[in-house]
Amino acid sequence: MKLMYILFAAFAIAQSVTGAPVIYSTDFNNGNNEQWVAHGGNWKWAKAPVKDIEGGDKAIYVDGTVRQIYLIKQFTGLKITSPRQTVLKMKLKIDSAVPPAYISCSVKQGNIYVGMANGRILPNEWFEWEIPLMSMSGPRKERFNPDNGAVTSVSLFIIQRETAPDGNLQTLYLKKLSIEEVAATPSSEVTLNDWRAPSTPTIHPETLHPLLTDKAGESSFYLDKACTIAAPAAIAKLADELNAELAKTLGGKLKVVRREGKNPYFIYISRSDGKKTETVSDMQGEDFRLAVTEEGILLEAGTQAGLINGIYEFLHGLGYRWYMPGELGECLPPCMTFRLKKTDKHISPKWEMRYIWYAYGLWTKGYNTPAGMEDFELWSRRNHIKNTTDYPAYHNFYRIFPKDKYFKAHPEYFSLIKGKRKADAVEGQICASNTEVIRIVAESAAAAFKNTPSLKGYSLTPNDNPYMCQCENCLKYQDPSYLVDTRTYAYGYPEGAELHIQMMNRIRNLISSEFPDKYLITIVNYDNISRPPRQVVPDKHLVFGFTTMPCCKLHALTDGNCPVNSEFLKLYQSWEKFGNPMYIRDYDPIVYWKGLPALLTGPVYSNLKQCGSTPGFLGFNTEAHRSWATNVPNYYLKARLGWEREPPDLQKIMDEYFVLFFGPASVEMKNYYSLFACLLKKSPLHPVARDLDYAMLGLFTSRNCDIMADTLARAVQACPPGSKYAERIAMLKMNFDYLKLYVKMLQEINEGKTKDALDVIGQMKILVAELDRSYPSAILRKYVDGELEKTAAALKERQDSQAGKNVVADLNKCSFRTDPDKAGVKEQWFGVDYSSIDWKNISLTAPWEKQGYNYDGTAWYRKKFFLPLNFKGRELMLYVGALDEEGVFYLNGKKVFIRKHLTKDGWKESFEFPVSQYLNYGSENVLAVSVTDSGGDGGIWKGMFLYQK
Ligand SMILES: [Zn+2]
Ligand SMILES: [Zn+2]
Repeated sequence: MKLMYILFAAFAIAQSVTGAPVIYSTDFNNGNNEQWVAHGGNWKWAKAPVKDIEGGDKAIYVDGTVRQIYLIKQFTGLKITSPRQTVLKMKLKIDSAVPPAYISCSVKQGNIYVGMANGRILPNEWFEWEIPLMSMSGPRKERFNPDNGAVTSVSLFIIQRETAPDGNLQTLYLKKLSIEEVAATPSSEVTLNDWRAPSTPTIHPETLHPLLTDKAGESSFYLDKACTIAAPAAIAKLADELNAELAKTLGGKLKVVRREGKNPYFIYISRSDGKKTETVSDMQGEDFRLAVTEEGILLEAGTQAGLINGIYEFLHGLGYRWYMPGELGECLPPCMTFRLKKTDKHISPKWEMRYIWYAYGLWTKGYNTPAGMEDFELWSRRNHIKNTTDYPAYHNFYRIFPKDKYFKAHPEYFSLIKGKRKADAVEGQICASNTEVIRIVAESAAAAFKNTPSLKGYSLTPNDNPYMCQCENCLKYQDPSYLVDTRTYAYGYPEGAELHIQMMNRIRNLISSEFPDKYLITIVNYDNISRPPRQVVPDKHLVFGFTTMPCCKLHALTDGNCPVNSEFLKLYQSWEKFGNPMYIRDYDPIVYWKGLPALLTGPVYSNLKQCGSTPGFLGFNTEAHRSWATNVPNYYLKARLGWEREPPDLQKIMDEYFVLFFGPASVEMKNYYSLFACLLKKSPLHPVARDLDYAMLGLFTSRNCDIMADTLARAVQACPPGSKYAERIAMLKMNFDYLKLYVKMLQEINEGKTKDALDVIGQMKILVAELDRSYPSAILRKYVDGELEKTAAALKERQDSQAGKNVVADLNKCSFRTDPDKAGVKEQWFGVDYSSIDWKNISLTAPWEKQGYNYDGTAWYRKKFFLPLNFKGRELMLYVGALDEEGVFYLNGKKVFIRKHLTKDGWKESFEFPVSQYLNYGSENVLAVSVTDSGGDGGIWKGMFLYQK
């Protein structure tokens, strides 16, 4: 499954700047009964008529596109006088006449966005919002400067769709929004005042593990070098594996005796050559039995997998720990002789799905070395991670319906998207209400169950895109008022659960008599299926793999202070209520953390524990990465949660980890982790997916970083140089140094210091390479490098073309048309009302020859752009990087500037001219340029933008 994002785009219209720190709202329409609205998939601005409707309210009518965003309210002149991080608090209410809707908000300072948020608002309920005002760093080039003092506009949009009473038009309707309070207040700076260094971690060897401890007292068996291992030939290899592990602590190997038994899956350790006869019980699957008596230790199972579980759980009981792959991750108990207590236990795992897989490695060659994968496989084996699942779920409609096989003869099998049948996996799905389609899918499921009898479930997961079939029949299942959650990237589409689940039910009906015990699986809370169906009740044999896509990465689901996760938990529970089997389909935080330390042990533990309380919970399917410097011991925690019947004690697991993994530095390392946890918990932000950058700056201030760095330095001092403990801390320290550089980079970007930011990126790349070399599998280097590369490229572009200028509008993307007959002037291609809809798109950062036009002569560029009202009265310049050779510039239908080819180098020189008097403020502008080139490369080719002097 790949991750798809649609960057949330918001548009604002600034109405006015009052100068005074007052808040007022503009009226709904702008006086001439027209409202600017953004609509359509391309997010273009368009004019739409505003009409009066009953009760003095207004409605906007736009023709039927799927997505619309409407500006509904705006406030200007908010004064903010606070430190760098600020939160805008807002309380909103719509009245009961308005259906539930999604609203979004964008906050601007001048022409730059400094805050964005979206959420769902219900009639008659106060919706409270805290929008962090942050620098938006990275390629977006926007930043909030508190020294400038004012947020110039807060714009509220509503996203909604309903059918108008008078035909096919979509109506959006809004006036009834009231706002009780808009206040900008400084957020509490993250401080460490309430953080106290935790006490010394302790472990109690006698309660290390319940496996060997419940029959207290009585000594029964001593495990030392004098023992013998008995095992059938079929199991000899496993007996050797156990022997090799034991030798690490016993100081030598035990004698191995081969012995056949009724059940071949056993290993017996005794002090008398293994002569005792084993009792063999009935066991299957992953289960095993561990019996310790005066005579010996018996491990037995019904399968090889069960016996492997037995071996490693037995070793875990002796104190062996594997916190990360490789030797560096291994912790051994210090004993030479173990005194074991009497026990006889039949053990089975808690969840049957315990799946952690290296995502990127599977797609891209070279991300994971074979040696690294081997280490990971061994780590998985030791921690009962099953790297297979009997309930596979993946996007597979395109596999069941290959385009080549079906499309020509049966286009109706495929989804109708935007009026066309689409069969590709990028935009297409299947027509989920078509009876023939359902029959074919049912046959495909039946064939899979026949071919692989062990398979417990079959995937019925839509292709990886946000669409659903929009044919007349399918639309009956898609209530347009039931939009997909805006927190996912698929928002603006009708909720697809109803359509999808009815299809799954029908397929299940077709196969249930032949395969009564088999399941059908789908991923939910992804793409177009987020909220549960309201009409259709899912068949009991449907399995839901619930993704953690729009989940806050910093807080636990049960943390009442995290609004994002409160919503997430509600959503989870709304699926849970059906009582169907579920599992968590999660993405390790590293997807979003770009190699940063993700010491999220608290949330990792608590979230899984919370979801695991669902009756019939199957477990987890985690998309993970080879990035252990950032993740140890998150995966270990997951492994224990998936295995132990009674949820293990987090405190105890973590204390063990500090003592065993860091030895003499355990106290300092516990402090280090606790500092991290304290900071993350105190974050006023709830970052979802990729917006985590915003959180980083506020959390990891230089003061906080200094405290953590000091703690790490003391930890290093506490360890003997060259010891495993010192090595582990060195690895984590490099990862922390990377975090510090990362934050520094964000600061430089924020302050507009492009060159310094690029320097920091250079240092980061060196550090990441070093980390990768010194501790293979510590960091997913290619991924991190790729992210750094992207940021650097965006910075370089900004550095090159817009250095030091306050850019108001980026005009680098234009419509383009050649004009060989010189008709442009006569036909007024520069005109405001002229339609350039059939023109091609072109970039102004390269000559047209480089973009497919082998052409000399005259050609035209056209660009529409919006300019907020608050730029009225400022000195605005149009900057052109270079124009080859001659050009005529028009603004809003008027000729405003002529560029002649006067000097030899004119074709490669920049120029600029003032345009303030020709621009429209608070509305749209039309720029047109005709360029004439006599030979060679031609056109505007080094960028063009509007800036304020
Ligand atoms: Zn359909
Ligand atoms: Zn949160």
